[in-house]
Order: sequence, then structure tokens, then C-alpha cells
Amino acid sequence: MRLGVLGGTLDPVHLGHLAAAHAAARALALDAVWLMPSHVPAHKAAPTASPWHRFAMAALAAADDPLLAASDLELARPGPTFTWDTLQALAARGHAPSQIFFITGVDAFAGIETWRRFPDVLEAGNFVVVSRPGHALPEAVRQHPAVAPRLRAAPAHGGADLAISEGFCAIWLVEADTPDVSSTDIRQRVLTGQEVGAVVPASVAAHIRRHGLYTPTPAARRLHGEN
Ligand code: ATP
Ligand code: MG
Repeated sequence: MRLGVLGGTLDPVHLGHLAAAHAAARALALDAVWLMPSHVPAHKAAPTASPWHRFAMAALAAADDPLLAASDLELARPGPTFTWDTLQALAARGHAPSQIFFITGVDAFAGIETWRRFPDVLEAGNFVVVSRPGHALPEAVRQHPAVAPRLRAAPAHGGADLAISEGFCAIWLVEADTPDVSSTDIRQRVLTGQEVGAVVPASVAAHIRRHGLYTPTPAARRLHGEN
């Protein structure tokens, strides 16, 4: 089973994430992609939805899509999220590193040198680096001695030499037309009363509305008496 994992704070999940998941699956013949919300790092800006709401939205986004499922693997683990730990956990469950494909946008992968256990993390799974409007992979990352030998182009519609993935973890570059959307922009739009129905699945837009997410006093917090 060739398993894709799309991690991130997913606060909220949006059409850019889904497009990246599908582009990676098409290019690399993945059998499934798990949307995997992470804990929110301390430096991320509020207001942010709780882990439960972020997971709920990932599950809604996956509901009608046979490729996708939501995974609670990172949220179930206490403390900050490190991809290294996630890849180890998947290996412990019997997924061979060469059959795991950790999907990121180029903006996220640009920081790979700062990730826990770099460069070993590059041997713990394949990475799929999907293009994102307005971002490019910095030359310094591309030419890093731990990165450069693993880089492979993955044609958007498949046909990459997948045989090399037998026992080897590559960094696959996928050029895809993902929409120019970010969760930051969506949170800002909700805060200022704008529609987000065009950039998240309809079920996710309804969830945000129903629960008053990304507004100063979310309805769910009022229900819990937290204001
Ligand atoms: P934020 O603005 O809060 O950082 P985001 O839109 O960047 O949100 P994340 O949860 O940070 O979303 O992203 C999760 C992963 O999805 C990252 O690897 C990111 O690069 C990737 N990603 C997000 N949006 C896109 C997009 N439009 N195209 C390609 N990759 C994307
Ligand atoms: Mg981001």
C-alpha cells in the first residue's frame, strides 16, 4: 500500500490541501492520502480552532472522497508534532519507509533543514513536494548535499520511474495547479465576515459557520462557558 500523508495545522483544511493531496496521488500512484492535523506550534497566530474542530473539518473534507481519510495519529500523541515521530509511528505499524509519501507544499519543505532529525528524516519516508502559487524551492535547499541526491521529478500525470522507490526514499517534486489559498487567509476572511464557500468544501464552510470558528467568541466556547 502506497500511503500518502498530508500533515499541517489544517486550520482549516482547504481546497489547496485537497488539490495537493490529489496531485501527489496522481503523480505517484498513491492508494490513499491521510489528512493528518498536527498540534499547533506555539508560534502560530490565534485565533485557531481546537484540535477537535480541526480533525472534524479534515474528516468532513474526506467524507465523500474515496482517496482521503482523516488521521488522528499526530493529535493522539501529546506534545509538539515532529514529522520524524510520525514517520517512526507509521513504520511501527508496518508501513515500510519506501511506501510512505509525506506530502508538503514547497513553502513547508523550504524549512526542511530545521526539521527534527534532519537529514535522517529523509530516510524515514519519501517526501512529495507540491508546487504552491507564490512559492519556490530555494536553491540552497535544492542543492543541499542531503537533499540533492534524492530529488526526482514526478510527472503530474504519473509515469515516474517508481521502481526506484523500492527500498529508497526520494524527494519527489510535483508541479501542480493548486489553488492560491491559505488557511491564514481563510481565518482572516471569516474574522471580517467574508464568505469562504469558494475555498473550502461546503461541509467545512458549514462547520465553521455552525460552530462560530475563527471569530473572537466561538459559539462552542460560549457553550462551554469559557467567555
Ligand atoms: P497557514 O496559513 O495557517 O500556514 P496553510 O494554508 O499554509 O495554512 P498548512 O496547514 O500550513 O496550510 O499546510 C499544510 C501543508 O499543505 C503544507 O505542507 C503546505 O505547504 C501545504 N499546502 C497548503 N496550501 C497549499 C496549496 N495551495 N498548494 C500546495 N500546497 C499547499
Ligand atoms: Mg502553512
